[in-house]
Amino acid sequence: SKVPFISLSNGVQMPQLGFGVWQVPDDEAAVAVRTALDVGYRSIDTAAIYGNEEGTGRAIAASGIPRDELFVTTKLWNAEQGYDSTLRAFDTSLSKLGLEYVDLYLIHWPVPGVDKYVDSWKAFEKIYAEGRAKAIGLSNFHPAHIQRLLSETEIAPVIDQVELHPQFQQSELRAFNARHNIVTEAWSPLGQGKGLLEDDRLKAIAEKHGKSPAQVVLRWHLDLGNVVIPKSVTPARIAENIDVFDFELDAQDLAAIDAMDSGNRLGPDPDTFNLV
Ligand code: NAD
Repeated sequence: SKVPFISLSNGVQMPQLGFGVWQVPDDEAAVAVRTALDVGYRSIDTAAIYGNEEGTGRAIAASGIPRDELFVTTKLWNAEQGYDSTLRAFDTSLSKLGLEYVDLYLIHWPVPGVDKYVDSWKAFEKIYAEGRAKAIGLSNFHPAHIQRLLSETEIAPVIDQVELHPQFQQSELRAFNARHNIVTEAWSPLGQGKGLLEDDRLKAIAEKHGKSPAQVVLRWHLDLGNVVIPKSVTPARIAENIDVFDFELDAQDLAAIDAMDSGNRLGPDPDTFNLV
């Protein structure tokens, strides 16, 4: 496929565009992941809390694609934070996925009210040292949480997966990550399909290029250097979302999308999200 790779700080190569499976029930995830693999996706983003690691694993096994051509991400759920519980949760995720290693393991949320992410990260360092995760990173971490990890632990995170879309552009976090050699990965890159894709400015840009608003938004992310993991269970949309390598946005298009930042956060604020 034409998906470029991004180099993580430890040298691991990650496809810049992948497939997300949040809110997709296990059996449906098996079908959707298989569709995604068939149309060229090689990176899959799941999480223990999504309840679809088994379906994802089944699709991977059935695809017959060599393991080293795939990039599989899963995440540690909040309730499992802490050193020993992280090691146990990781074993469970690996066995549900039916894999011997994952390419990327993420702490799903910092959960500052519980304050166990430093201990959890020490378990991540062990998992990484054992080669059972080829890279380790974070999700929903703010600069203050990352600074603390950098000062209290040994191995730097390679990536931070955060809510990011044209209405919530995260410029400060992106700049912080860039300064620390941390790749920024966008979750809900399409703004969950709510409202954003109906924006007239996006529609006009899409029409100009003969592409869809979703494709324009994904192209914008790629131009910013973000890793993106759009989700769909609709085969035509799954294919559409990876068909973004045959056109280019011009400076005017990029400026118009940059101007859409309204601070419209769709998910929880990591500083106050303490659900376990
Ligand atoms: P998204 O921005 O990818 O939007 C998905 C929705 O947009 C679909 O359900 C559909 O309604 C619509 N859509 C998709 N393709 C379309 C197209 N081509 N045309 C029109 N509409 C289209 O939202 P998401 O699923 O929230 O995020 C993507 C992935 O990010 C998730 O599946 C998950 O893997 C990850 N994620 C991670 C976190 C986290 O805390 N780390 C949180 C949310 C999501």
